[in-house]
Amino acid sequence: MRQITLFGATGSIGQSTIDLIKRDMDAYDVVALTGGRNVTQLAADAIALNADVAVTCYEDCYTELKDLLAGTGIAVAAGDAAIAEAAARPVDWALSAIVGAAGLVPGLTALAHGTTLALANKESLVTAGPLLLGRAKAHGATVLPVDSEHSAVFQALVGEHMASVERIIITASGGAFRDWPMEKLAGATLAEASNHPNWDMGQRITIDSASMFNKAMELIETKEFFGVPHEMIEVLVHRESMVHALVGFNDGALMAHVGPPDMRHAIGYALHWPERRKLPVERLDLAQIGQLSFAAPDMQRYPALEIAHQVMETGGLTGAVFNAAKERALDGFITGQIGFLDMAKVVDITLSKMSSDQSVTAGAITLDNVLETDRLARIHAGEAITTLG
Ligand code: NAD
Ligand code: MG
Repeated sequence: MRQITLFGATGSIGQSTIDLIKRDMDAYDVVALTGGRNVTQLAADAIALNADVAVTCYEDCYTELKDLLAGTGIAVAAGDAAIAEAAARPVDWALSAIVGAAGLVPGLTALAHGTTLALANKESLVTAGPLLLGRAKAHGATVLPVDSEHSAVFQALVGEHMASVERIIITASGGAFRDWPMEKLAGATLAEASNHPNWDMGQRITIDSASMFNKAMELIETKEFFGVPHEMIEVLVHRESMVHALVGFNDGALMAHVGPPDMRHAIGYALHWPERRKLPVERLDLAQIGQLSFAAPDMQRYPALEIAHQVMETGGLTGAVFNAAKERALDGFITGQIGFLDMAKVVDITLSKMSSDQSVTAGAITLDNVLETDRLARIHAGEAITTLG
């Protein structure tokens, strides 16, 4: 039996993973499940999967979770430290599916125990890619991509040499506002931004898809994960979300990964890697689909993409600035402090302010530096929000 832990078990990725695990319960020994405020879901899953421990990141949710699990023998804990402690329990495989920079420390902790980390939490690669991958290397641990585009690239690279790769193309659906006239974007509401045309995901990544901040994050994620220069990475708008990524080789061949927009594919690939196993995802009927469309992204509509290229070019701790400012800007949009288009302005202003600081642009990517940069970026982004709001 494989021992596994799921960070962010109650989220969209966590629930899809649990769906796969439940189909083959005898194969897994579930050690820890973590979640947030949805303790009813967390408790139900902990019971269904017979976990050793259930952890909520919120201390004020402890009593409710404890009551829900009373008499089950499942241990209960709460708070960030408890999540880090859960990460220190040795397992064979862990899912990193917390949303936001909060996913970094649990991921690093799991890797220090040699755990294979299935990484959905792109924020940890954006904020601290070299730290995370360096930790994996130092402990002989494997990091497997769970983001659909990165899983697609990873699969297209099996048996290939990186030296023969010329370019990596990740696709983007264009998000909720792809057909909106530009002048309407400033007035886009939270409900409108939270409605993805193709994918069913958590609210934050759905809004990030509408602004293409998600794709901007994924550009950086690609650079970090596959170790390629940013000039080699392209974004291609593909409305149908069936071609997830393409890898271009030096002989002109493009290897595309095609599949339905269902995260259980990428999750299942990481769960069963290095094998492929049967997965409960739709089999595409391309004759019925008939046509797939591709277009270049409109850089004016999606300023986040240009910002991501600047971040990749500057390097240092600017990825941590970018992610933290983006998270703070997203909070500002969700709480109605700023409009949809202001999010990119907040990130741009924060990056401009902090990029003049040598300790940011040339700073070593240590955990302390990343956490401090994240803290400062959120303060600067908060100030920008106050000015714009
Ligand atoms: P979600 O909002 O549905 O779930 C997030 C999970 O993280 C929940 O379990 C929540 O309780 C937990 N969480 C939130 N804040 C936390 C904190 N401060 N500390 C500890 N736990 C916390 O998010 P999601 O859509 O499942 O996305 C999870 C991650 O996977 C994100 O990094 C996202 O970018 C990435 N991802 C998601 C999808 C998708 O289809 N949903 C696709 C690719 C990548
Ligand atoms: Mg993705």
